[in-house]
Amino acid sequence: MKLIKFLQNLVKAARWPKNPRCQGVAPKALGKVWFGFLQIFGSFHLGKEHKKKNRLRIKDHILLPQTENPRISYKITPNHSGEFKNNLPDIIILHYTAGSSLQSSADWLCNPESKASAHVIIGKSGNIIQLAPFNFITWHAGKSKWKDRTNLNNYSIGIELDNAGQLEKREDGYYTWFNKKIDKKNVKLAKHKFDEEIQPWDKYTKIQLEVLEELCKLLSKTYNIKQILGHDDISPDRKRDPGPAFPLQQLQKTSLKNHYPNLQ
Ligand SMILES: [Zn+2]
Repeated sequence: MKLIKFLQNLVKAARWPKNPRCQGVAPKALGKVWFGFLQIFGSFHLGKEHKKKNRLRIKDHILLPQTENPRISYKITPNHSGEFKNNLPDIIILHYTAGSSLQSSADWLCNPESKASAHVIIGKSGNIIQLAPFNFITWHAGKSKWKDRTNLNNYSIGIELDNAGQLEKREDGYYTWFNKKIDKKNVKLAKHKFDEEIQPWDKYTKIQLEVLEELCKLLSKTYNIKQILGHDDISPDRKRDPGPAFPLQQLQKTSLKNHYPNLQ
């Protein structure tokens, strides 16, 4: 709208020298042109600055420190197997936590008793907790297989999303397995690719998916990631995450620099 008004005023101002009838309005139009230019340039510039400030970056395999990006915090997990070898990782594996909160999932994945971890967790409000540097092998895949590869921990970056997973329908609404009632607007009714029937699932939030996409684009560029998979793609006999509420194909399309569907 601003741009249209700006152009209309520009046309009025341009007619001024030739059309005497426009003389009265021309100085006003000229003023509006200048004001419009400031408005358009200002919002464009501010938008760019805002984006730049919030953009994710990786330095030495760590997302930028909290002081520069308030969405990121750290909690280092002892559950890892040291550094990747042979130009890896080249896959991203996505999970839902099936936990009750971002913090409780981070605590569990940093507890040696869990024997589980991941590189990052993304909360429902878009906040990120990094648990291990991206060049370290974490324990998120478990027993797994993809093409000729087994034990996908050795090939992949694990991203957990704070999400309760499949829900239970009761008489008075939808509940998580830990007995929390979920508002109907946050429930997605969908069929998992392994199921025959539609089931209720906890919805991912818009900001959570936006932050994930931004992170996947950055990881794809930094580590030459060739494929993004769900946990259910690599452990189909025992896992169902990230589930049908998650737009995996869309993420593969938008976030991979080079998509190799037949990656060996
Ligand atoms: Zn998983």
